[in-house]
Amino acid sequence: MRLLIVEDDRLLGEALRTGLSQAGFQAEWVQDGEQAWAALRNEPFAAAVLDLGLPRLGGLELLRRLRGDGSPLPVLVLTARDTARDTVTGLDAGADDYMTKPFDFGELAARLRALIRRAAGNAAPLLTHGTLTLDPASRAVTFGGNSVELSQREFTLLHELLLNAGKAMTRTQLESSLYAWGEEVESNALEVHIHHLRRKLAPDLIRTLRGVGYMIPK
Ligand code: CA
Repeated sequence: MRLLIVEDDRLLGEALRTGLSQAGFQAEWVQDGEQAWAALRNEPFAAAVLDLGLPRLGGLELLRRLRGDGSPLPVLVLTARDTARDTVTGLDAGADDYMTKPFDFGELAARLRALIRRAAGNAAPLLTHGTLTLDPASRAVTFGGNSVELSQREFTLLHELLLNAGKAMTRTQLESSLYAWGEEVESNALEVHIHHLRRKLAPDLIRTLRGVGYMIPK
């Protein structure tokens, strides 16, 4: 799951990127509102963690711009401002959830998982498909009642495909959920991960859509 962190405080930005990466997110970090706007317009993200006090373009202005543009992106506002008025303003501007600094990383990660899940139209925390289950919180996968060991990237890929079951996922969408900015992507890496998933799970679970990408049918 690819996340955008928008935070101008360097220490906190680094801590968020590290903490959320350890929680299994592909976390990218920008330090002002204009950079965030450019990133969100150009690339797919599953959610954003947004500070309100930002240089160049403030968090509330960014939110209004996103919603004005019709973006359904789940946004969790993270701020030092803890007055009820700021909370109300943030939610009215289009935020989906809200946490006040200092915050607990475990709670932040859980809230983000819930936002992403709901945005994809799933109310239940466990993703299931036949006898396959994936638990985003514990990162556990079982198939036919047996637990399955997956690498971090295999897990992320399966999560992305299950969350979007029934939809064709393009190579670009899948690769951007797997790799960080500036990270080298080997041309056949995606095929290799898909091959491993098919081998560990079922050969016919993931369909290849020629010239498009991959899909897990509903
Ligand atoms: Ca700030």
